[in-house]
Amino acid sequence: MPDHDLWPGVARHLRAQVTPQEFETWFAPLSMRLEEQQAIFTVPNRFFAQWIGDRYSALLGEALTLAAGMPLDASFEVARARPAPPVANQHNSPAQPQGLNLNPAYVFDSFVVGPCNELAHAASQAVADNPGRQYNPLTIFGGSGLGKTHLVSAVGNNLAVREASNRVHYTSSEAYSNELIQAVRYDGIQSFRDKYRLVDCLIIEDIQFLSGRERTQEEFFHTFESLFQAGKQIVLTSDKLPRDIPGLAGRLRTRFEWGLLADLQTPDTETKIAILQRKAADKNLALSRQVAAYLAKQPESSVRVLEGYLNRLMAVSSLRGQEADLELARQVVGPLASERQVSVEDVFKAVAAHYGLKVSDLKSARKSRDISRPRQVAMYLARRLTNLSFPEIGKALGGKDHSTVVKGVQRVKGLMAQDPELTDTVRAVENAVRAGKNRD
Ligand code: ADP
Ligand code: MG
Repeated sequence: MPDHDLWPGVARHLRAQVTPQEFETWFAPLSMRLEEQQAIFTVPNRFFAQWIGDRYSALLGEALTLAAGMPLDASFEVARARPAPPVANQHNSPAQPQGLNLNPAYVFDSFVVGPCNELAHAASQAVADNPGRQYNPLTIFGGSGLGKTHLVSAVGNNLAVREASNRVHYTSSEAYSNELIQAVRYDGIQSFRDKYRLVDCLIIEDIQFLSGRERTQEEFFHTFESLFQAGKQIVLTSDKLPRDIPGLAGRLRTRFEWGLLADLQTPDTETKIAILQRKAADKNLALSRQVAAYLAKQPESSVRVLEGYLNRLMAVSSLRGQEADLELARQVVGPLASERQVSVEDVFKAVAAHYGLKVSDLKSARKSRDISRPRQVAMYLARRLTNLSFPEIGKALGGKDHSTVVKGVQRVKGLMAQDPELTDTVRAVENAVRAGKNRD
């Protein structure tokens, strides 16, 4: 049986059942493959296997059954130790950064370029070609599952592979913060600083988690300064613009803004099709254009979720020995996708929350500008994110006229073309709506 990836589905079910911390500790480090109706989990060591076996085997079995649509047995195998990373002699410092912890599949070659990610891709490529020069720091921002991790990993992989002496360190702002706390607690602050000072390319994911963490921000400011002064490359990801990160120190915000901010947008259907075909080809799976187009047209923003559909379709196809045709795609993916449909009320709630209004204000007849603009945004997003017609949206908004909705949508479109702030607002609300449906 080929190597189909049920893991995203299994992980989703697990996440729903355990605390985030348990998930990160015990499940995030696993990888999984299928062999003869058996799910084989690769675990870092024997202790892990035992722990999961003792505490989570029922849960794991249930998650497997749900994800595969049939009962599967689970077994564990211990990962072989990774070879130590090459260490260049001139850098023989006691605080050598850990081995390259990047996903080796995330390279430029496997990244599909489309209008949604052109700038971010070009900037990442430029940084990999010329680290520490033109774009420092490079910050990739965008919603969940749009390719941030893939792109920044591609930068790191590219640098590390090209030049063995390049020390690339990949972490998240949360891990950085935890590491700092440990260092402070165990009197290891100097080696913490040395370690970060000696990196050639520092990749830090999810800087939005720096929000409100003053001690971490202070330390990160020093890390940033010493790397920046030394011409070392800094690459960051975030789910929002630095200026929209609450509780981010001004000196960090301005530094992030010195560099290049490149965003990732939701791919258009053509790009989605190309990505799906690319993923299928990478796994040696046959995926017809017709089926790829069907998947790409699901009301789905994130590439990660789309990839989950593909994996699930392929897994079911292989388990049942049935061709992954349109019929099977409809059966397998249809119910998943409808669970994720955005409702017009989801849109209203997110708009109201963003503007500090009540949904009833949006539905009211009041015409003051502080309500009518959010109401127009609600119309625009309802049109964009649901399948409702103009009259249906009007009705949901407390009985507004069809033409009022048409005008509202046009107005927002027109304004967005001139007003970047409104564009950001609309995108932020859109991401919030989608995030409510995209929890994995
Ligand atoms: P993020 O970090 O923004 O949440 P990821 O980088 O983890 O997103 O991407 C989610 C999945 O989608 C990954 O498997 C990634 O390879 C894939 N992906 C996203 N964009 C692209 C693309 N343009 N080409 C190929 N794969 C992509
Ligand atoms: Mg990511």
